Amino acid sequence: MSAALIDGKAVAASLRERIADDVADFAASAGRVPGLAVVLVGDDAASAVYVRNKAAACAAAGIAGHEHRLPADTSEEALLAVVLGLNADPSVDGILVQLPLPPQIDASRILAAISADKDVDGFHATNAGRLATGLPGFVPCTPLGCLHLIRSVGPDLRGAEAVVIGRSNIVGKPMAALLLGADCTVTIAHSRTRDLPEVARRADILVAAVGRPEMVRGDWVKPGAIVIDVGINRIASTPGRTKLVGDVHFAEASAVARAITPVPGGVGPMTIAMLLANTLEAARRHAGLA
Ligand code: NDP
Repeated sequence: MSAALIDGKAVAASLRERIADDVADFAASAGRVPGLAVVLVGDDAASAVYVRNKAAACAAAGIAGHEHRLPADTSEEALLAVVLGLNADPSVDGILVQLPLPPQIDASRILAAISADKDVDGFHATNAGRLATGLPGFVPCTPLGCLHLIRSVGPDLRGAEAVVIGRSNIVGKPMAALLLGADCTVTIAHSRTRDLPEVARRADILVAAVGRPEMVRGDWVKPGAIVIDVGINRIASTPGRTKLVGDVHFAEASAVARAITPVPGGVGPMTIAMLLANTLEAARRHAGLA
């Protein structure tokens, strides 16, 4: 391996320490702590773990976590009522509705109902529009974390060729918008892209957000590129056991890249750190301290 390892766990840990200090400063000025409401509908095991991790991270940073657990058969109207209640609650600065939602609920209707100034996930169309037009708003946590990691190894991105594989609203599109905002020349690739390896090889900064284990091979990577692997895929390893891998073939790509994120321990830990940062930012805005 010749690439430098981008240690998301370490970067996230130091960020979380800084956020905890800033939360304490906020509390001293505002006379209250920031609050994050996390809404979980149903008992999806992975979602329950994410919500537990978010609650623990909030507590460690001094942010009040308000957890709302609703049964799997909750109606759309009942969930809407919860969201509207949180919109009106002055102790709540950020609202996060854990996805996926059960099939009887239209997630887009719920996300649209969250007040844009409490939308710390950055999924509301108003915040997506603000990002696209360069206005201040809330940016989705995962791509925000990726940009932070990219800057940790490449502070000046002006003029760099960036290729983002994946065009989802929560990762690929906002990632591309952030890189464009950093003056990169950005290409967004997806399942219909022709000759994807050739497109990927143009990238000084290559972000893979696809959900396909080890799809990006070593010969897709330009020598000296920065490679950010967003993918989290569980695959079989030794008989009866599984392991997590990214969308990038780590062993091959790390022989070619200048810097690369591992899976796990790369992008993943950054997502929660950015959620805390967005919640603190929301609290500052609500308190008139931003
Ligand atoms: P989506 O399934 O919403 O989007 C996947 C994207 O990949 C789509 O745009 C799709 O293209 C594209 N794609 C699929 N197959 C191919 C292919 N063969 N070649 C090129 N592009 C392809 O996924 P998400 O954006 O939500 O997540 C992507 C990955 O990131 C997942 O592994 C997910 O688990 C992980 N993730 C990790 C997070 C973290 O905290 N580390 C947070 C969020 C996600 P098309 O639009 O044409 O269908």
